[in-house]
Amino acid sequence: MNFEDFNNVKQILSEPKKIAIVPHRNPDGDAYGSSLALYHYLLKFNHKVTIVSPNDCPEFLKWMPGEDQIVIYENDTVNATNILEEAEIIFALDFNALHRVGDRMFQALKKLDPIYIMIDHHQQPEGFAQFTYSDSSVCSTCQMLYQFIEKLDELDKIDLDIATCLYAGILTDTGSFRFPATTSETHRIVADLLDKGANNSEIYNKIHNVSSYDRLQLLGKALQNMKVVEGYKTAYITLSQSELNNNNFKKGDTEGFVNYALSLKNVIFAAIFIEDRKQGIIKISFRSVGDFSVNEFSRNHFNGGGHINAAGGKSDESLDKTISNFLDILPLYKNELQ
Ligand code: 5GP
Ligand code: MN
Repeated sequence: MNFEDFNNVKQILSEPKKIAIVPHRNPDGDAYGSSLALYHYLLKFNHKVTIVSPNDCPEFLKWMPGEDQIVIYENDTVNATNILEEAEIIFALDFNALHRVGDRMFQALKKLDPIYIMIDHHQQPEGFAQFTYSDSSVCSTCQMLYQFIEKLDELDKIDLDIATCLYAGILTDTGSFRFPATTSETHRIVADLLDKGANNSEIYNKIHNVSSYDRLQLLGKALQNMKVVEGYKTAYITLSQSELNNNNFKKGDTEGFVNYALSLKNVIFAAIFIEDRKQGIIKISFRSVGDFSVNEFSRNHFNGGGHINAAGGKSDESLDKTISNFLDILPLYKNELQ
């Protein structure tokens, strides 16, 4: 978005509108953080605003201010569809291809013709939005939303709730400020959020120190299943549906597991393969350190995408077949994985 686009957006938002905010399916801290921050922001201008999320978030995000107001498309489809149909503007946050809302909601959105405003930091944005604010060098959509509000010259509207939501999203998408996309600008923005009242320690604890006993047992199983692929600086973890069931798996329980594989000395590429019998897929998370692009890897072989060092994908094959495919693909990247 250029200067003129920001002026146009400011103009469009200068009168009360019916607005829907949509995060991607399986919303994470950044998706919910940016959606909720924008929700609280737009309410200050008397817009009619609703967040419609494709599905529910994990338990560790359920404390976020305004989270209880979010309409879940999967659970409340008729109401959610009405809201989307009525919306004059739909904000698409933390995703850049419309199908990332999941199949059913994607089909519903395809029938509509709102003004789309996309704010996102993933690679290779699609052109579905009238206004696309996209920068894949930025650590999080929450940082981009802060910059969006800054460009609208409205930073003074950031209150405690907005600061808390933005902080939570930046915290989670930067792996607590350790990933390379964390910049001095990120820290300046975070400093401002703290000045506006965000409680860093409390937010960290609410997100990270809420493991159940079952989750840690499942982590134990995941670590037992971890394998290193000699010669490729690669490690991967598998979790079958029965292993998930045996440990009373709940949504969000496997968050962060893949990072243990990446933390091995000399490993630069890590993956976790999680069986989902209900959806009939294997959900995959890829992580890397350095130049090896898991975005490209996932796009090319596993119907996914994301960022250079963090991407997701899926496979319709069995868990065993998916792993054998993965191992067959690795030699194509022998040079990059030395
Ligand atoms: P995660 O592995 O934590 O689910 O996702 C890592 C990153 O890749 C996130 O930024 C997420 O939005 C993105 N991502 C996850 N799954 C998919 C997918 O199926 N397609 C695309 N394009 N991106 C994904
Ligand atoms: Mn994000």
